[in-house]
Amino acid sequence: MLGLMQDQPLLISSVLEHALKAHPHTEIASRMADGSVHHCTYADIGERAKQVANALVALGVQPGERIGTLAWNGYRHMELYFGVSGMGAVLHTINPRLFPEQIEFIANHAEDQYLLFDLSFAELVEQIAPRLKSVKAFIALCEREQMPAIDVPGLMCYEDLIAGHSNDFIWPEFDERTASSMCYTSGTTGNPKGVLYSHRSSILHSLALCTSDGFGLSAADSALLVVPMFHVNAWGMPYAAAMCGAKLVLPGAALDGESLYTLMRDEQVTLALGVPTVWMMLQQHVETQALQPATELCLNRVVIGGAAAPRIQVDTFETRFNARVLHAWGMTEMSPLGTICNPLPKHRDAPLEAVLDLQAKQGRALFGVSMKIVDEQGAELPRDGKASGLLLVKGPWIASQYYGGEGGQILDSEGWLDTGDIATIDTDGYMQITDRAKDVIKSGGEWISSIDLENAAVSHPAVAEAAVIGIAHPKWQERPLLVVVLKPGRTASKDDLLTVLQSRVAKWWLPDDVAFVEALPHTATGKLQKMKLREQFRDFRFQT
Ligand code: ADP
Repeated sequence: MLGLMQDQPLLISSVLEHALKAHPHTEIASRMADGSVHHCTYADIGERAKQVANALVALGVQPGERIGTLAWNGYRHMELYFGVSGMGAVLHTINPRLFPEQIEFIANHAEDQYLLFDLSFAELVEQIAPRLKSVKAFIALCEREQMPAIDVPGLMCYEDLIAGHSNDFIWPEFDERTASSMCYTSGTTGNPKGVLYSHRSSILHSLALCTSDGFGLSAADSALLVVPMFHVNAWGMPYAAAMCGAKLVLPGAALDGESLYTLMRDEQVTLALGVPTVWMMLQQHVETQALQPATELCLNRVVIGGAAAPRIQVDTFETRFNARVLHAWGMTEMSPLGTICNPLPKHRDAPLEAVLDLQAKQGRALFGVSMKIVDEQGAELPRDGKASGLLLVKGPWIASQYYGGEGGQILDSEGWLDTGDIATIDTDGYMQITDRAKDVIKSGGEWISSIDLENAAVSHPAVAEAAVIGIAHPKWQERPLLVVVLKPGRTASKDDLLTVLQSRVAKWWLPDDVAFVEALPHTATGKLQKMKLREQFRDFRFQT
């Protein structure tokens, strides 16, 4: 017997319509290329998203066709999030930090019909345009007088394009499983692969973000999205914020410590989301300028994800910013959120050290994400906080396959997706990543966690960033090498660093050597690029 409830598809257009009725006056602040801050409201975004939808219809865009963007976080990108998906097309956000050849590959593979771009990518667009086979026109996200002088076929001006269209649009109703947006994985090995999100998956995922043990998002929040809108829908925040009426603060291209700090202060940011590398820059700015974030800002939560949150970074947010860190884990294939680290009642009165230990964990699964750890034969391992194994996930906002069937079957026979991460899960359900399976260091038949060593190394006050890689060893198979970037003007010796590590990790984990470098290689999404680092140190040998 079916239930007798109304059968309404979960569509992204309904999120926007809700925002228009429930919190039309809530602001969206966007930092523009000239440093000024543009303010508009959900009502403005709604009207302009409808103009976008009308413009796309007039251009002949059909449901399901892909519309590419090369854009920073800003209000126009937000209009596209709702206008493109709302009218039934697929918003394909492209990571502009990728190599031009990768961008070409991705836009061609997705068969993007139009490409909308911020002016800072005008030259890039001019360079790649001749090889983008499916793109019918390139639309610059600017006013007429700002149009770039570039030579690309069918160059159009966004403001001109939408100005001619009505801000009235009846959103079509369709199957909630219809594709809404897509994002390609960085493709550290092989070609990038497309993850195709649906209206249903995006809405379920956003609802989970809003919950108290998610990001606890509400109309009282002013949320700074340092996470880019060109990667995994900015962790779903544009939809979640529109659902609950949180103000959005969109930083554009300026992600340096000073710009972020100023935005946080001026836009009264309560919640900020980003990867560890951007928080490293923010905290360095606060340190060098001797700022007082606990009194100057009203920040109360910082979400750190995309890579393991270093303990010292968490400590600094807790003690200097008076902001609680929400450590989160996920991946492009998971929309992206899988786990969030929130304390349980039993942790309420825990001392800071214990809180920091807890926050080193990636957290507990949100409802909607099932996870388990397995050994190399696929047998499930106990949830005792000790056994570590391959982390598998399944759920309604997790990919079932890649776009175009690339990479073949990605789920096992029971529907589990292998995350490629190695983790433990404790009796309370807290998951902790020890490594990427491909980065794990195997020494004498045991595993050494590079993440734990990196975490310990950055707790030294002179260390800006650290990476640990395995180097071949005649006796132990592999031994860890610590590669360190020091903060400007600071010094530390190999012995200083090993002394710090000694107090935090097992003796046999201690790196056999330390190398000092000017910078570490990062991927386009801000993760340490261990493969490149291993290449860089290919000829390195330990002096034994
Ligand atoms: P890419 O597109 O570069 O693959 P993803 O965002 O999909 O980027 O990367 C997902 C991976 O990032 C995860 O499988 C995990 O290895 C790593 N990751 C994400 N969040 C965390 C975290 N909080 N701690 C440790 N690793 C993380």
